[in-house]
Amino acid sequence: MTAPNDAIVATPINTVVLQNMLPTAKSLPASFRKALKVTLALVLLLLIVGFVLVRVSGLWGILFPSHQHDTVAPVLPELHAPAILVFSKTNSFRHVDGIEGGGRALKAIAGERDWDVFATENGAVFNDTDLGLYQAVVFLNATGDMLSERQELAFQRWLEAGGGWLGIHAAGDGSHSGWRWYRDNLIGADFTAHILGPQFQVASVIMEAPDHPLARQIPTTWEHEEEWYSWAESPRTEGFTIVATVDESSYSPYQKILGRETDLRMGDHPVVWSRCVGRGRAAYAAMGHSAETFDNPVFRDLLGNALSWAVGEVRGECQASKGGR
Ligand SMILES: [Zn+2]
Repeated sequence: MTAPNDAIVATPINTVVLQNMLPTAKSLPASFRKALKVTLALVLLLLIVGFVLVRVSGLWGILFPSHQHDTVAPVLPELHAPAILVFSKTNSFRHVDGIEGGGRALKAIAGERDWDVFATENGAVFNDTDLGLYQAVVFLNATGDMLSERQELAFQRWLEAGGGWLGIHAAGDGSHSGWRWYRDNLIGADFTAHILGPQFQVASVIMEAPDHPLARQIPTTWEHEEEWYSWAESPRTEGFTIVATVDESSYSPYQKILGRETDLRMGDHPVVWSRCVGRGRAAYAAMGHSAETFDNPVFRDLLGNALSWAVGEVRGECQASKGGR
């Protein structure tokens, strides 16, 4: 009896006919073979260059966002209060320069005040015991789904019990959308886009709450070059305290991509804001894309103010008491 598949098994004659029909590499003209090799080499080169650019530019995390969560906490150095935890884990876009320059600036600011700083990208440090050693936590361009639910809850408990938090730039870029408590309590707005064409522009920042602890000795109006962010609505509508806004008439608040222009004007356009969270204090600053951003002395002063307030050394908004937690 014949197996059903026997009918479609190629016979030796069929194979010979097929081979004669297909051109072999040797049958192609030499000039065509050379052109083919050059084209393949160029495509390979473009792929390699593209891969390197995507990695170096930080875009990799946007194209391939990660959901990796750390499980083994880092070994912590001996810490003395006030101590600050700088967290820069990036499971989405990575601000390579902003993290490096920001880390340097935060260490310098803390060093001037004799505070301890520990910088890590290990999310397992977000547990009750380790967080209890810190008076303030900074999300320095930390992006994406960077913490497990258990780690998120540990941070929430720590902050509500009297901790201080400072979010910098990409901490408000909307990539943390899976963490609703974070969006509602620390950011209070839905990110839309940042300016492009040009991506970095000098704009006027206006301090609108001169008595706020973050505004101490900061000029009422100051200039800053930044990749300015926009949100669907001002966090003022959700009860956040607005510390500073950006003057939309002082720069071009548009995103221009391939001839398409998106209007990013908000009208009321905050760039620094704060909120009391339980017994804790939270502040967010939209600046911080590049390393150069942190060279602006006014922005550095503002960061110093934010940290002094976050660790509880300065009273004011949220009635922080000296000594922090
Ligand atoms: Zn940025």
